[in-house]
Amino acid sequence: MKEVAEKIKEAKFAIALTGAGISTESGIPDFRSKNGLWSRYDINEYGYIENFMANPAKVWKMLAEMLLTFKDVEPNPAHYALAELEKEGILKAVITQNIDNLHQKAGSKNVIEFHGNFNRLTCMKCGAKYGIDEINLEELPPKCK
Ligand SMILES: [Zn+2]
Repeated sequence: MKEVAEKIKEAKFAIALTGAGISTESGIPDFRSKNGLWSRYDINEYGYIENFMANPAKVWKMLAEMLLTFKDVEPNPAHYALAELEKEGILKAVITQNIDNLHQKAGSKNVIEFHGNFNRLTCMKCGAKYGIDEINLEELPPKCK
């Protein structure tokens, strides 16, 4: 820890790269963990855009489960620590693979979301934007307005 702190202190442009591991303490199992989505859904049937395009209703069942997991979770100390480092000017940005919005919820401002954000969904036909609360997850696939 001391060595990492020294490296961060010496860095001219420190960034953090995060993935699912940072959010597991918030109650979001990572995709590959024991209770993760890939333990219940075959990645080869659900994990690729081609699967989604071929059968959106099927893939949306998994997506709905995932999106509902994200709705009521809170950041954990790791998210808050990164937000504090940014606030102090030590950390310049967070680049994340996560779509759970927890870095922003913790106060991070400069977050680059590699895979988007669960709360900003885009219709693939017309480009209409939706927040998660605007999506009817009872009707899958959800219908565009
Ligand atoms: Zn649309």
